[in-house]
Amino acid sequence: MEFITAYFSSIPTAHRSAILIGGLAFFFLLENLAPFFKGGYNKWKHSGINIFFTFTTVLVNFFMAFILYYATMWVSSHHIGVLQMIELPIVAQLLIGLMLMDLISAYTAHWIEHKVTWMWQFHVIHHTDQNIDTTSANRHHPGESVIRFLFTVLAVVVTGAPIWLVFLYQSLSALLSQFNHSNLNIPIWLDNLLKLVICTPHMHRVHHHYRQPYSDSNYGNIFSFWDRLFGTYVAVDNNKLVYGVDTYMNTEESESIGYLLKMPFAGYRKPLHYDKEETL
Ligand SMILES: [Zn+2]
Repeated sequence: MEFITAYFSSIPTAHRSAILIGGLAFFFLLENLAPFFKGGYNKWKHSGINIFFTFTTVLVNFFMAFILYYATMWVSSHHIGVLQMIELPIVAQLLIGLMLMDLISAYTAHWIEHKVTWMWQFHVIHHTDQNIDTTSANRHHPGESVIRFLFTVLAVVVTGAPIWLVFLYQSLSALLSQFNHSNLNIPIWLDNLLKLVICTPHMHRVHHHYRQPYSDSNYGNIFSFWDRLFGTYVAVDNNKLVYGVDTYMNTEESESIGYLLKMPFAGYRKPLHYDKEETL
């Protein structure tokens, strides 16, 4: 346990980049060996757009990282947050800390992004992807990266997270997102077993269906139980899913980096099927 806290307290930037790139390469290879949806799109063009947005996400997080660092120093010196107020063994700190960070920084942030119109206009870029694979994980508008970063700062304050926990959380969060966005064909029995605890591709795919109410379900990133607990868990036959978002199905918009960057400022488009819910 001490090894984990010591390593993640001072994890070099190069190692954090290696986790991100290594995870992407690993799931990219796996999903090509055992794909769920087979073929049908230009993987290189698709990856190019998504890697551009992964790069902007990394840049935003890199330049704002010092805020996160000061937040961890501040909670520790002022004894703020759950982990600072209750003394727990390291294992419990790790588990409770990861759960709280995931709840606030991922599940809650994501849920709010779907409910607040101006935040949705940034988050919708993630949903415009009509071919979900592991490269979709970090397809976030730079504005959304800032929103998510601020939720991570909030999560640090509520959790009272030390820096090792923040870096461990961010590494796991990146890997799980790459995993649950991957086009990997996992046997259903294994997927069912994994999703008792973590969010699997089979579970997260539903969130990328092009219409409500399915796009308003399965918000989780690391742990699957938040969706079950808050009533947003939905399971459907993944073969029936259509990726994208009904308001932006024109690929001239959804496959243009320039347009995607301008999208949040181009006005709100009301979901086309808002009144007519479908049942898959
Ligand atoms: Zn979403």
